[in-house]
Amino acid sequence: MQKSPPILEEIAKDIYLVSIPVPLMQQVNCYLIRGENGFTLIDTGLYTKEGIEIWEDLISSGIFIEKIVLTHFHIDHIGLAKWFKEKHRIPVYISSAGYEEMKQRRKGDYTDWIVSIFQLHDGFRSFKESIEYQIAMEEQLLYAYEFEPDGLWADNQYIQLGNEAYETIWTPGHSPDHFCFYNHERELMVIGDHVIDQLSPVILLESSSDMNPLMSYYNSLEKIKEYSIKLALSGHGHPIENVNKRIEEIKAGHQYRIEQILASLKDEEKTAGQMSQEIYRKANTKLAYGPIMSTIIRCIYLESIGKLRSECIDGKRVYRLAD
Ligand SMILES: [Zn+2]
Repeated sequence: MQKSPPILEEIAKDIYLVSIPVPLMQQVNCYLIRGENGFTLIDTGLYTKEGIEIWEDLISSGIFIEKIVLTHFHIDHIGLAKWFKEKHRIPVYISSAGYEEMKQRRKGDYTDWIVSIFQLHDGFRSFKESIEYQIAMEEQLLYAYEFEPDGLWADNQYIQLGNEAYETIWTPGHSPDHFCFYNHERELMVIGDHVIDQLSPVILLESSSDMNPLMSYYNSLEKIKEYSIKLALSGHGHPIENVNKRIEEIKAGHQYRIEQILASLKDEEKTAGQMSQEIYRKANTKLAYGPIMSTIIRCIYLESIGKLRSECIDGKRVYRLAD
């Protein structure tokens, strides 16, 4: 059978988009940046048969990948890094912060930690549900982090992508290790999952290295506003031309949900689990943990700025409006 041609689209000079299908999220954007020594690949896609086929097609069609640079450690971005390294001997670079998160996940106690967070915030309807969640998480994490990166970078450095130097900008929030890369001459930013067209990036409490991710996210959005950006290349969806406008839309979306939380607590105290059931009544059941997580991160943020108070009652964190 004839293989379908690889999905490859030049979206800026010498920068090609490769869209890799991802279950539930539809697709992840990977970018091939042309250079004298080959292409730099930004992000790899999830470890799936479909993803591997796309990359095998591209490599056999003559695309030479010099190195891989990762925006952050989430499995839809890092998932095939180990495969590239082992199968095609392509070096992989990640931030020091990303490497720390990888090592943390390898210890195997990560899912216990995240389950305990959901339990504390009343996020599971049953014990069975918590076990099912844990098993699904462990399956996903099993493969992705079992490799050693070939190089690390930190905030405020320059990294070579293709032929050009890009500034590394640490933008925690969506993940504790998230990085954007900025090309000063072209006013072009590889923005990863920090700002996405159409959908609001999920903000996850997923690491003890960042216990107030929404606060981090807001700070990282401010950081980005200092750059003049003509084109931003996101990890999902379309390229963005007006980043500041999109930032304001995303912030307004959070603010809308924050107002709902404050309204929900007007007359009685509640857990994040109770509030999320109330606020997201029509939520897609496949992504049921998203609404709970979003409510948790907003409650933590609101408590940190003095709008809410909480106490632990019978093992559950209960929120009320601050006096
Ligand atoms: Zn992500």
